Amino acid sequence: MDDSFGASASGAARLALERARSDAGRLVQDLRAELAAIGESTEASPDDEHDAEGSTVGYERARVGGLLERAERALADIHAALERLDGGAYGTCAGCGRPIHPERLAALPTTTRCTHCAAEAPARRWAHPRPPAPQNGGRAGSNAGGATGR
Ligand SMILES: [Zn+2]
Repeated sequence: MDDSFGASASGAARLALERARSDAGRLVQDLRAELAAIGESTEASPDDEHDAEGSTVGYERARVGGLLERAERALADIHAALERLDGGAYGTCAGCGRPIHPERLAALPTTTRCTHCAAEAPARRWAHPRPPAPQNGGRAGSNAGGATGR
């Protein structure tokens, strides 16, 4: 029972992370089972020479495999966050070492960077240069070339 070292705040974070971990763990299990089922279904039908079936299975496997990869990465992030929580580094920005805002941690429990550092890391592409507006000087119906010289 040590209730001293910011235990309530880290306790809330731990609770959120453990819940996320069980969710992500279940998702990983489901996706692994799904991927295994796809594998078995291809083995069950020996004539996978047909392009249509083969590409469908290939597509499904790639899709579920991609989801599984993402879920495993999320699970790894959660594990890493729980380790940081145990080590006392949780909530400290990996970029600048300053504390991460609690609201940000509540929204993104596995984040390792503060808002400032996270905003600097990815390329911000919204500020694309505006194409120059075509200058339309000169009117079409101006009487520039009149034959009134003489
Ligand atoms: Zn930072």
